[in-house]
Amino acid sequence: MRPFADFGSYDAASTAEIARRAGVRPEQVVRFDGNTSPRRPASARPEALADELGRIHTYPHGGYPELVEAIAAYVGVAPDNIVLGAGADDVIMLVVRSFAGTGDRVEIANEPTYPLFRIAAGLAGADADGGSQTALTICCRPNNPTGELGELPSARPLVVDEAYFEYSGVTALDLLDEDVVLVRTFSKAFGLAGARVGYAVARRELADELNRRQAPAPVSTLSAALALAALDAPPDVAPVVEERERFSGELRALGLEPLESRANFVAVPLADGAALAEKLLLRGMPVRPYRDGIRITIRDRDDDDLLLTALGGLLGDERT
Ligand code: PMP
Repeated sequence: MRPFADFGSYDAASTAEIARRAGVRPEQVVRFDGNTSPRRPASARPEALADELGRIHTYPHGGYPELVEAIAAYVGVAPDNIVLGAGADDVIMLVVRSFAGTGDRVEIANEPTYPLFRIAAGLAGADADGGSQTALTICCRPNNPTGELGELPSARPLVVDEAYFEYSGVTALDLLDEDVVLVRTFSKAFGLAGARVGYAVARRELADELNRRQAPAPVSTLSAALALAALDAPPDVAPVVEERERFSGELRALGLEPLESRANFVAVPLADGAALAEKLLLRGMPVRPYRDGIRITIRDRDDDDLLLTALGGLLGDERT
């Protein structure tokens, strides 16, 4: 394998590992670090899988036309504009390796941002910091970890990671003809992170090029069935948005200064986010540390109140 300088993998502790370190049972761990939905969607039932289970010994011959059509209708484009993948991550890696190769530069906007962009650039042989020519620019909107909407870079081609689109309602869809590629997912608002279904939206010729470079059948038929069932009733994000605002208010009451977020998480600037994150993890409530603070996923009122109580205690300890 080629050597990789400065190459960090993307990893997060398992719930079993966190439970062991916190001295609790795995069911007692409440994760505030994954930006996923707190509950499984009502559509994710065994019945949604029955037909595909009956065909599980066969390949998804001919692809996933029903799912592609349903996604296209949801986004408001034609099926030819859709590229499926095993989660947004798979789609990001596909797009990056399709546009960028050895020696190229991949420009990453809005750092700190989603760490996979840099990894995808490295895997493609490109470089996020050097390289002679910018082959691709990537921007995450709303940005992870800050939740901010930010300006779109004017560079093209441009990938806009809209993993949290449903929460913000803001999209770059009207820029498809300008070589802007959107990346979306079923992992966040749709509550299907374990199913691993994501997609790109691109102008037709570009979508065709990407599809030709994609693995033959990147999504399991069971996951495709779950995504299709979920599209019958797209999620209502209003409760999460409302809870995010309540939660941010409570954080401010604790003396913290959460950033204004348009996603299902809030970033809290802190001098030593890693230390506080470690203490919360040892209470079975992991949050995500980032360079200048912690990022907290919004769950629901009961879960979020548990975290607020723990935070209040820990900050109180620090002040005494
Ligand atoms: N993009 C961003 C900005 C994310 O935060 C995440 C989830 N961590 C992903 C993509 C990956 O999503 P998926 O589960 O669809 O691979």
